[in-house]
Amino acid sequence: MHRGKGGFAQVIVPSPLKAPLTYEVPPDLSDRLQVGMRVAVPFGRRTVTGLVLEFVAETRLEKVKKILEVLDEQPVLNSSLIRLCEWTAKYYLSSIGEVLATVLPPHLRKETPRIVALNAGKFPQCGGLQEKILAALRAGKTTPTVKALARRFFDTGFYRALDGLEKMGAVNIRERATRQARKTRLNPAAQEAIEPPVRREFSLTAEQGRALAKVNDRLARGGYEPFFLYGVTGSGKTEIYLRAMEEARRAGKRSLILIPEISLTPQLLDRLHERFPGRVGVLHSALTPAERRVQWQEVVRGNVDVVLGARSAVFAPISELGLLVVDEEHDPSYKQEEGLRYNARDLAVVRAKLVDCPVLLGSATPAIESFENCRSGRYTLLELTQRVEQRPLPEAITVDLREKTWQNRKSPAGKTTAAVPLSPLLKDALQENLARGLQSLIFLNRRGFANFLQCRLCGFVLRCGHCSVAMTFHRARQKVLCHHCGADKPASDQCPTCGQPTLLPVGAGTEQLEEELRQLLPGARVARMDRDSTGQRGSQEKLIRRWEKGEIDVLVGTQMITKGHDVSGVTLVGAVLADLSLNVPDFRAAERTFQLLSQVAGRAGRGREPGRVIIQTYNPEHYTFAHVLSHDYKGFFAAELEFRRALSYPPFTRLAHLRCEGVKAQEVEAKAKLLGNWLREQCRQPKYSGIEVLGPAPAPINKLRGRYRWQILLKGNQSAVLLGLAGEAQSAAPRSSGVRLHIDVDPYNML
Ligand code: ADP
Ligand code: ZN
Repeated sequence: MHRGKGGFAQVIVPSPLKAPLTYEVPPDLSDRLQVGMRVAVPFGRRTVTGLVLEFVAETRLEKVKKILEVLDEQPVLNSSLIRLCEWTAKYYLSSIGEVLATVLPPHLRKETPRIVALNAGKFPQCGGLQEKILAALRAGKTTPTVKALARRFFDTGFYRALDGLEKMGAVNIRERATRQARKTRLNPAAQEAIEPPVRREFSLTAEQGRALAKVNDRLARGGYEPFFLYGVTGSGKTEIYLRAMEEARRAGKRSLILIPEISLTPQLLDRLHERFPGRVGVLHSALTPAERRVQWQEVVRGNVDVVLGARSAVFAPISELGLLVVDEEHDPSYKQEEGLRYNARDLAVVRAKLVDCPVLLGSATPAIESFENCRSGRYTLLELTQRVEQRPLPEAITVDLREKTWQNRKSPAGKTTAAVPLSPLLKDALQENLARGLQSLIFLNRRGFANFLQCRLCGFVLRCGHCSVAMTFHRARQKVLCHHCGADKPASDQCPTCGQPTLLPVGAGTEQLEEELRQLLPGARVARMDRDSTGQRGSQEKLIRRWEKGEIDVLVGTQMITKGHDVSGVTLVGAVLADLSLNVPDFRAAERTFQLLSQVAGRAGRGREPGRVIIQTYNPEHYTFAHVLSHDYKGFFAAELEFRRALSYPPFTRLAHLRCEGVKAQEVEAKAKLLGNWLREQCRQPKYSGIEVLGPAPAPINKLRGRYRWQILLKGNQSAVLLGLAGEAQSAAPRSSGVRLHIDVDPYNML
């Protein structure tokens, strides 16, 4: 038992592999040091940067090293945020080090540079290179970093020589501690660049008023309460978020608002700037490292009242947090699919509970799990059934693509046959809308020119060399691209098997649709929004601004165009191939389709003119469409819930998805099968009896980025039991260097 005067601290190094370590707090540091601050600690022969997780009075350890230095003047993470990190690590079967690597911006977690300091004394046993290194150190005025020194001695033996010098005590190598940067100002030019529109004054509708009153009441009384704001598109949900956030600020509290993708909703940022001038922080992945650093510091220092951010902003270091908002809570982009696999929407609810404040989730198309939480009373449901100013929801119809006699255009042999199915109804509506000077939105959830290239003689399909998927033809770039790994090749019509110029584009994408619409509507201003058209920084926002100002007549795009925009000139919405998302092998396919179509439909008729929606499908009888047409989320929810119950999928069960990945197909398969057997064996134990093991089976995308993939799905009713088994699998899985096991708790993407 060891007892130090200043006590001990549990310190974690932000790295996936490391567990917290105990260090002694020297008495001279104990006044300044707080939980959540970064410290310099000895680690092996090095000095590293760690974060203090908690203080402990005593330790069982015999030998405890001392904290060398405190690096922050105030905590970078407050205690409730640390508890959120711990909760996240436990629930998502990760480590606190990995969570912190996600939470802390790079400038706070990067390995500090190692420096080489010269020691006094004579070291006669030095070799020639070592003599030269010592001479350079003696001649230099400052202590150089290892890297700088290595650059000067461009010699393969440098590191070995330096190692020898350190061992004989001639030099010390340690990390140079970096302190918290001085206060940096937000770039005022960047803030001014956004011209806030004049605030329109209006009074809330009765429904809005009732919903807001409930949230405000909770804000006044304090404490945790999860609210769900279910309101049809254009019913004024955003207005409620903003007013609740204003209410929180009046009470001296800060708010966090999460949205799926910041660049897609510049309007919301305008509205925030207008209501909280100079007090808005923004956090998302498209920021440059410098911007991110500035924003983070502004938030840590409490210089902002509201923080707007995407997924990872759920970990924003806000103190005095009084309200969390998650807009479009159903959006799959809240789910992180790589590294630390978490769901920011779910973590927002957990964070609210830890902070003890209200959280407000909102959507016109709630996730099935969320609406089930409303039904069961876990969430307080707030409803907006009407659009503001009594605007009607758009009138929607389906067009059956199977009756496409109009589509069989003869095309000259060897030319493109991959026409976009545009029904006469949709064409007429487009022409009419254009003639009336109104805007149209055309949705096709597939980018590129053609879905793939196929040989019309032998049937060969051009596939990615690294992934088990076809490559997509991008005509403007004259390339074929893999949409999964990004690999590309020059496009050619040469079939590799026949050697003939017989490769033809099959299946249409947005690039082709844009071209067809230009031909159909001469003189119309047609633009396209997808990941290809908006690659450059800021180009997306420019496009949305033009769209908002009515400078674009027809906007074609992927799911990017379905989100959030509130543009009053849009009166026609067309979905060209509404089945694309329905045919994905995923139990959420119908939910996703309902959400995409209802959201894109919801863009229509937000101004004075009523809106119209045309949905083209090969499967008009599918229950999803009837509910989209009648704007009946609750009807869809009821039908979908029965389907989920019958097949025992969430919300009736919890899932954990295990994926084995590796470069050797046989090894991956063998390990997946071993793991599958082990899991089935475990399930014989009474404590795991409720768990069902599905698979192992090859993943639908069997190979991705050169790695083969096999998967196992665990289903269970009790999350703790399920996580228990999945966690055991993680440690029990045979360690093999070639195959990695990834576990995804509450998975979204199981392709
Ligand atoms: P949602 O988020 O539900 O799609 P928004 O909050 O964006 O809807 O509101 C749609 C539009 O209606 C916005 O331009 C907003 O400023 C406006 N609006 C919201 N509430 C009212 C109201 N009570 N009266 C008039 N206009 C409103
Ligand atoms: Zn690929």
